Amino acid sequence: MRDSIDSAGKVSDTINNRDLTDKMNRNQQHTDRSEQEEAISPSRNAIASLKEKTNQFSETAGRKPRILVSGMESSGLDQTIKSVASFFSESGFDVDISLVQQPPRKIAEMAVENDVHFVCISTPGSVTPTHLHLLTDALNSEEGKEIGVIIGGNNSESEQRALYHAGAAGVLSLNRLATDTNEWFNRVQAEPRLPGDWQYYVDGVLQGNKRIVSKAITLIESSLPSHLSTARKVIDHLLPRAGHAMRIGISGVPGVGKSTFIESFGKKLIREGYRTAILAIDPSSSITGGSIMGDKTRMEALTLEQNVFIRPSPAGTMLGGVARKTRETIVVCEAAGFDMIIVETVGVGQSESTVASMVDFFLVMLLAGAGDEIQGIKKGILELADAIAINKADGDNIEKAREAKRDYQSALSILYPSSPVWTPSVLTCSALTLDGLDEIWKTILDHRERLEAAGELAEKRRKQAIAWMWDLIQEELKARFFRNEAIMRLLPKIIEDVKDGKTVSSIASRELLSLNK
Ligand code: GDP
Repeated sequence: MRDSIDSAGKVSDTINNRDLTDKMNRNQQHTDRSEQEEAISPSRNAIASLKEKTNQFSETAGRKPRILVSGMESSGLDQTIKSVASFFSESGFDVDISLVQQPPRKIAEMAVENDVHFVCISTPGSVTPTHLHLLTDALNSEEGKEIGVIIGGNNSESEQRALYHAGAAGVLSLNRLATDTNEWFNRVQAEPRLPGDWQYYVDGVLQGNKRIVSKAITLIESSLPSHLSTARKVIDHLLPRAGHAMRIGISGVPGVGKSTFIESFGKKLIREGYRTAILAIDPSSSITGGSIMGDKTRMEALTLEQNVFIRPSPAGTMLGGVARKTRETIVVCEAAGFDMIIVETVGVGQSESTVASMVDFFLVMLLAGAGDEIQGIKKGILELADAIAINKADGDNIEKAREAKRDYQSALSILYPSSPVWTPSVLTCSALTLDGLDEIWKTILDHRERLEAAGELAEKRRKQAIAWMWDLIQEELKARFFRNEAIMRLLPKIIEDVKDGKTVSSIASRELLSLNK
């Protein structure tokens, strides 16, 4: 038995064989009972208890427990992986999911780039200690030895024991996911596993060390105040080395083809010699659950490239926070030598304007449909766009895409252009057949050339820097408000009073703000 799994995946105490056997026996009795319970109320209690634990974990570690769920080589089945992933997300984990069967080295690389706490190999059959060793070896050689390995499958009791002995941080049966996860997660000690020395990050990032780049991003995304101050120092030191990259934002509703497009476009950029970082903001977190981030899954070919760094980030519940975090992440990636930064965001909420305010070129992806769709699309997004790409212009869809292009062109023509040197263009493309991708690239280069010639690119970046400052001020003011004990004491009562109509919102807000000294 591996007696301790360091850091966030740390198994706090050594579990000797006898303990383990006792535990298994207890488990069995417990199982009979909980299986009955689960039949009545499908592990609701176990999920509630897990949520509590994952919340506590976040408070100590500065982020939700993050887990990569993947099949290994020929071991997984999409459906199994998907249900395991949604179970973890429902229980408060941030989940990276990889549906394609991966060799251990690839899984380890992904786990390290996303800086997860755990990797869960999920399979409808059984996983052997040999599989486990292959993965732990791969994690070790990718500098990810602190990442705990969880095995999900239909292993017999003795197989489970063997897996624990071989060093698994957790083993779970597919029909008792919640109960088993409570079991192994109990032994996990949450701790912020990030080095506190800012110099470590600055040196590693400047050397282009992907592991340290990924840790620096985790530091930036952390909610712990101590991490925040280290992150600020790191950014201060990296800022003079950033700013040279081309920054492109890509937005569109789920299913429009963003990931497929980024995969095809990314390969093109790499052929052109760009080192490319792809930052995907995932806004799908609910208040209690975690995010499921599947972007790497849909960019399989791209993940095989050396000059690419892909990092999906959960937006969590604070969109304002994402703005600061993604801006700082851009700085880290630029300082690490990436000269093309793509920020992908789903076209919901405020995320498009947030992303538009940190990139040089903002591409909005749309689908062809009836002309009246334009009525439904938010006018705001057209105002943000430097170009619109109507995707899936292939097969029977080509004519419809052309029609949509005309409709959007006329919709854009009545908008006042945001720059005197640039009128947003409408293009059609197919991320699958690659038609239109060259034209989009030419448009991006043309935009850059014109803005640079007119001095507008520098001006745009200056304005963005000011906007960034205001975002930070707002964020800090909000944080101070919620840190204020007097306000927190009074807040529940005031909320009730406003709800019951005993006081009006304007008076209530003034009363609270007057305490915010
Ligand atoms: P996202 O949610 O915006 O990232 O969308 P995806 O990239 O996951 O694509 C959603 C679906 O549309 C997938 O099944 C893709 O294969 C398909 N798709 C993406 N781009 C194209 C395209 O240009 N043409 C066609 N026909 N299908 C596409």
